[in-house]
Amino acid sequence: MQIFDAHTHINAPQFKDDIPDVITRAHALDVTAMLVLADSPASNARLRELLALDDHIYGALGCHPETALDYGPEWEELLLTTMQNPRYKAVGEIGLDYYHDVPHDVQKRIFIRQLELAQELHRPVVIHTRDALADTYDIMQAIQPQDGVIMHSFNGDAHWAEKFLACGYYLSFSGVVTFANAPEVREAALITPADRLLVETDAPYLAPIPMRGAMNEPGFTRYTLEFLAQIRETTATTLAAQTFANTKRILKINE
Ligand SMILES: [Zn+2]
Repeated sequence: MQIFDAHTHINAPQFKDDIPDVITRAHALDVTAMLVLADSPASNARLRELLALDDHIYGALGCHPETALDYGPEWEELLLTTMQNPRYKAVGEIGLDYYHDVPHDVQKRIFIRQLELAQELHRPVVIHTRDALADTYDIMQAIQPQDGVIMHSFNGDAHWAEKFLACGYYLSFSGVVTFANAPEVREAALITPADRLLVETDAPYLAPIPMRGAMNEPGFTRYTLEFLAQIRETTATTLAAQTFANTKRILKINE
């Protein structure tokens, strides 16, 4: 079995001294590929070091809505030059986060700008949305990204899942889907077609049951995958093959 962690931050300082062990433990749980997302110049520098360690680590870069106030010409230059590297498969994570008090008009402007750049670069986008599903949906309806969309750590209900699925987007589920207090996210996962479903950790955050409370790491994608296989009444092997193929398709990884 091969599992793709579609969203992780092993470039975060929490993993600084531990990367070879983290990768070894991931492989032991059949998590053999991962998309690592950078959201700052520092985390991007670290990501470049990680790309050199393992051919099955892929990169993404984007200005997170939480730090939208930092976005300017330097950020944009970094994004454009970084995306020349073919190991970078997506622009993200970008989006809206109304849980944090960055002004909404700034978040929207930076989100739209990066959606347009991704379009020019012909890269899929990884979307972060928190307490902002309606505005996220409206902006994406207006821009209509043409190169693929991953809704990361999808946390909407079945109604919202249907709306985003109708646009052709992929829904990526994190450990949140395993939490007792997230029945609506399980409903969303149940109605997602097998060819549009991804799995992720969002490590070091959001460790799935049975690891909840521990620091999350890519290997734990295995637990979310097994949980999803159980509620969807399929096998982990089947779901691993489907989600692995889906992740490669949306990120245009051909090997
Ligand atoms: Zn993330």
